Amino acid sequence: MFDVAIIGAGINGAASAHFLTRSGLRVALFDREAIAAGGSGAAGAFISPKISKGGSLKDLIEEAYLYSLQFYDRSFPEHISNASQLHIAKQSDENTKVISFREYTKIALASRPQSSGRLLNESAKAFESVYIKESGVVDAQKMCEALGADATFFHEEIKSITELKSGWQIGTITAKKVILATGAYLPVLDEPYIQLRAVWGHRIDIRTSTKIPHIIHHKVSLAPTTEEGFSAIGATHDVHYHPQKSQIVYDVEAGREVLIEKAISSVKLEDIEILKDYTGLRSGSNDYLPLLGRVANAKKSLEAHPELLKGARIDKTSLAYHPGLYIINGTGGYGFVLGPYLAEMLSRHLIDGEPMDDRLDPTRFLLRWAKRRKDG
Ligand SMILES: Cc1cc2nc3c(=O)[nH]c(=O)nc-3n(C[C@H](O)[C@H](O)[C@H](O)COP(=O)(O)OP(=O)(O)OC[C@H]3O[C@@H](n4cnc5c(N)ncnc54)[C@H](O)[C@@H]3O)c2cc1C
Repeated sequence: MFDVAIIGAGINGAASAHFLTRSGLRVALFDREAIAAGGSGAAGAFISPKISKGGSLKDLIEEAYLYSLQFYDRSFPEHISNASQLHIAKQSDENTKVISFREYTKIALASRPQSSGRLLNESAKAFESVYIKESGVVDAQKMCEALGADATFFHEEIKSITELKSGWQIGTITAKKVILATGAYLPVLDEPYIQLRAVWGHRIDIRTSTKIPHIIHHKVSLAPTTEEGFSAIGATHDVHYHPQKSQIVYDVEAGREVLIEKAISSVKLEDIEILKDYTGLRSGSNDYLPLLGRVANAKKSLEAHPELLKGARIDKTSLAYHPGLYIINGTGGYGFVLGPYLAEMLSRHLIDGEPMDDRLDPTRFLLRWAKRRKDG
């Protein structure tokens, strides 16, 4: 029997595997396709803070940003390229967010280098911007592979999991505990209160003669050019397309055109040659905060606490939980920033029983879902 089975080998599953195997646990890591086959493989994997005025999500991402940059630098320096980054407001109503971020962030800022002025189009220069000196771009594929390297990998789609007297049956193996890390793909477990929003994204690796000296986030995100002239352009931009639900096939050519058009509207890019496309889904929760923690059984919890239908506040520990079942998901456009931070928190909980961040407890959605059922 494995100690832990993780379903989904994106950044969240792979980072969880890393911390658990590092503590000596026997971990099975499942993916229906391959490591980083979902949203993680499509990501530009820029380590960026959230540029906003404030709030729980901005604070969480900022904490995770500082943690994850150090973690990658220390543990996998070969899979992160250090680079500074320039954030430019996407539209005028984002200007105030940028100004506020500059004023209140804990992250060290610097003044924008002259070179970026020559690179940007006038339309991009019209917006407020912030320049962060120490940041990075992760090699998404290699990082996920390295994080998951000490787990036993199973190339297998898990359609359902079965609770045993002690532990779980997952495909052909058994494990004491299970972590669901399936991103925005179809869920393995039907718990009606766990609803994730899927956003489809597209990244292209390109070659260009233009020297991009740092990461640029504006209408799309651009990676700094390597010495050989390689860069990447990425964005998540389609809330309707879902590879497992949509009837139509995603139009890669049209997606590329949108990316290039947006990129050249902000940066003077020349001699663009498209090298490779990557596509995938990212998942976000209804309140934009990730889901990290134990998974409660909605049906049994309502049987035990029918007062939930009236919106009663109860002690969450008295809910009926699926024993040994956890979720790490909903990291939105910040999976590579949040992944290691959340995974480390989850592993400390599993190994030493340390509490996790209560703001991320998935049962917050169970309480809301139960109340809506009554209202509906
Ligand atoms: C175009 C794009 C650009 C992005 N840019 C950035 C960025 O610059 N910085 C950043 O931090 N984040 C970025 N993100 C967001 C980031 O990629 C996501 O937050 C992150 O990938 C989520 O990771 P995950 O592990 O939760 O999900 P995923 O990476 O989607 O992994 C889920 C895995 O589960 C597997 N799976 C699903 N169901 C099953 C099943 N039943 N059985 C077995 N396996 C299953 C899938 O095959 C998949 O590999 C971007 C996303 C996209 C799409």
